[in-house]
Amino acid sequence: MSQCLECGHQRNAGDIKCPKCGRFYSKIAEIIAEQEAQEEMQTFRGRCKRIVNSGDIKSGLLDELKQMWAGLTKKGMFALFVIFVFVFALVASVL
Ligand SMILES: [Zn+2]
Repeated sequence: MSQCLECGHQRNAGDIKCPKCGRFYSKIAEIIAEQEAQEEMQTFRGRCKRIVNSGDIKSGLLDELKQMWAGLTKKGMFALFVIFVFVFALVASVL
């Protein structure tokens, strides 16, 4: 039986994640990438929610875009791309 490298919690066969501290046991890089992709989606969903909840979708979207330009990273670029796709899909479905 191996143990969690982080907290020493006993590791069960088949577990990919420590139930105690949440550390991944295997394929760490891959799983972290997956996690980041999920976080990206959550962020994207959060942005969409904020935009829709702002009442004025146009100005809400502009505010979000301004915020993204301010702190533009690879992640930001991706979110920007996703939002453009989202807006395009929205416009295409309305027309
Ligand atoms: Zn642990």
